[in-house]
Amino acid sequence: MRTTVGFALALLLVVLRAGADDAGPAFDVEANARLLVIAPHPDDETLGAGGLIERVRAKGGTVRVVLITAGDGFLEAVAHETGQPRPLPASFIAYGQHRLREARAALRVIDRDARFEVLGFPDGGLTELLQAHWWRSRPERSRFTGASDPPYDDTALEPDLPYDGDDLRAELERIMHHTRPTIVALPDPLDRHPDHRAAGLFTLLAIADWSAAHPTAPRPQLLAYLVHWPDWPPGWDAHEPQARPDQRLELPPAAAHAGGLQVSLVLTDQEIAAKLAALEKYRTQMAIMAPFLTAFVRRTEPFTVLDFAETGRVADAIERAVTPLPHRHPSPPPRHGPSRR
Ligand SMILES: [Zn+2]
Repeated sequence: MRTTVGFALALLLVVLRAGADDAGPAFDVEANARLLVIAPHPDDETLGAGGLIERVRAKGGTVRVVLITAGDGFLEAVAHETGQPRPLPASFIAYGQHRLREARAALRVIDRDARFEVLGFPDGGLTELLQAHWWRSRPERSRFTGASDPPYDDTALEPDLPYDGDDLRAELERIMHHTRPTIVALPDPLDRHPDHRAAGLFTLLAIADWSAAHPTAPRPQLLAYLVHWPDWPPGWDAHEPQARPDQRLELPPAAAHAGGLQVSLVLTDQEIAAKLAALEKYRTQMAIMAPFLTAFVRRTEPFTVLDFAETGRVADAIERAVTPLPHRHPSPPPRHGPSRR
């Protein structure tokens, strides 16, 4: 079954990649937008959509940022910090808590009123939720924290939500329902980092489900942001970290989606400065890869406007592949409890 799911996803990604569009027309956001940013790890929201968050806020809109993981699976960083080659689960959780504090501080720089939440799902394990751990009867266990549900009892949005794909999909759908976003900024499903790719697919799947359940609700604009791609962003391997306000950041042409237009948000000097200041709050990450992070700080912030039909294609491909999986398991328990907010 894993092979089938993998095959379906590979097919889907080929479909998404076919076709290319001209890069870079400028766009702007409407007044009073409701922006939902989905980020796999702390700092992705700022790298991919920091300028967008600022612009929405400046135009009277509201922002909600949801981190899917706390970024607690960074083995090299935790090993370095603790001096232990094989750190204990508690050390990974402490590292995640540290990164969440950094994320909160970073977001305060670009929008002090933004709503900020973390789901606390397994860093480095989101792809497996689409495959081996789709159903609640087979939750995933983080190979770093040892947890099978979010180990951040005080901070996670739903600390008892089990690590399975169906529950993550349902939680994102619930977030869609409560937020009613006019814009969703999501990780590009073509991103080369498996967590980013999976987070993008989960977001599209949740939007498809929400949209099917609310067919008359206005559809949000879908803006995909890219973080990981070979030799990108240009200058990522510079010796010295530097913002480049005199340069545009363009998406790699090979990262074009079928029917997806690549667009750019042109940032003001003030927005660029705030994006850099926000990234500087990520001290743990700046200490390790400042040139990579600052290579995202440029005159433009690029996105691919995804065709809404992609949500349906993603949902079809994933559901066709996953539905037969639990044939020897009891039906999963209902995933929607009473409203918790
Ligand atoms: Zn990331």
